[in-house]
Amino acid sequence: MSSYPRLLRDAPEILRIAKSLLSAGPAVFFKDAMPVGLQFKNLSKFIRMYFGAHLPVYGSADITNVCNLKCRHCYWWKNRGRSGELDAAQWSRIIDDVFLKNDVLNVALTGGEPMTRPEIIRLFSKKMPGRFSIVTNGTLGLERIKGLSTYYVSIDGTEKIHNRIRGLDIYSKVKRNVGDYGDLVTLNMTLNAINCGCIEQVVDEWHGIASYVNFQFHTPFDKRDPLWIPFGPKRDAAIEKIGRMKEKYPGFFLNTDRQLENLRSGAWTKKCPSWAFISLDSSGKVKKPCCIGGGDKKPICKRCGICETSGFYSGIYQFDTEWIDIYNSFFRSK
Ligand code: SF4
Ligand code: SF4
Repeated sequence: MSSYPRLLRDAPEILRIAKSLLSAGPAVFFKDAMPVGLQFKNLSKFIRMYFGAHLPVYGSADITNVCNLKCRHCYWWKNRGRSGELDAAQWSRIIDDVFLKNDVLNVALTGGEPMTRPEIIRLFSKKMPGRFSIVTNGTLGLERIKGLSTYYVSIDGTEKIHNRIRGLDIYSKVKRNVGDYGDLVTLNMTLNAINCGCIEQVVDEWHGIASYVNFQFHTPFDKRDPLWIPFGPKRDAAIEKIGRMKEKYPGFFLNTDRQLENLRSGAWTKKCPSWAFISLDSSGKVKKPCCIGGGDKKPICKRCGICETSGFYSGIYQFDTEWIDIYNSFFRSK
């Protein structure tokens, strides 16, 4: 749909959002750690994106290639070598020249296991307070880091399934670590053919421990990957279960209904908004086609289940106001 019919279609929701922003007054722009100028710049970016511009909003940085685990589903340790990692001075230049220059809202520190690089985490804390998050397996312990938006802690199922997929008996340790800092934690669960039957148990168990939960689907690199959940009844059942749990625990989920509907099929991937994410590998180079790319193998886009891009797609192309509301409450609660 071109921009003007979309504008007419979305007008009531746009007015509702504008009214809620105006009624909240200046507090909307002053109550969180993000500088006011940056908030205005990004508001202007979102308006231009609504009318078709492609602009960077988020970033990710593989601050290490090293991980202390070898999970079954992970493409990482299978196709990444222990190549040279950048030091703090090099990451500092990248923060200035790439992330700050492009007014990126939030950078996800990834790996490998990013908690093995505390000096780089400290650097982001100093240079991008309120604008970085950490994607971790949760085994190395968490801490309260100044300016951290959230820890995304990966959980793969109930204790038995998690340990089976992760290859080590680590679940209880992760749960203890999250328990100490639950207000800082968003659980990330990637659904695959092994764990899609335990969605309800996971959500029941972790509600009240972590602050948020976020589901995505395993994205294969190989057409014969047995972990991929094909489009059809099994995937539909998983999406419906998530929908029921959203009703049971309002405010706990980062997934929106429209995003989940998109994940029923690969149709949304034809217009994947990977352009909104600057994803850098451990040598500071841009990864293509997105944050999970960059190695020898390419992800199969038609089968993609990544939460960030599918959520952003629903926010930008489908004017998903639930996404806007969740986005606001998530970042402003920090
Ligand atoms: S913890 Fe993450 S990076 Fe490490 S092997 Fe498992 S999925 Fe891969
Ligand atoms: S794998 Fe997914 S997120 Fe990455 S470019 Fe393909 S469709 Fe987009």
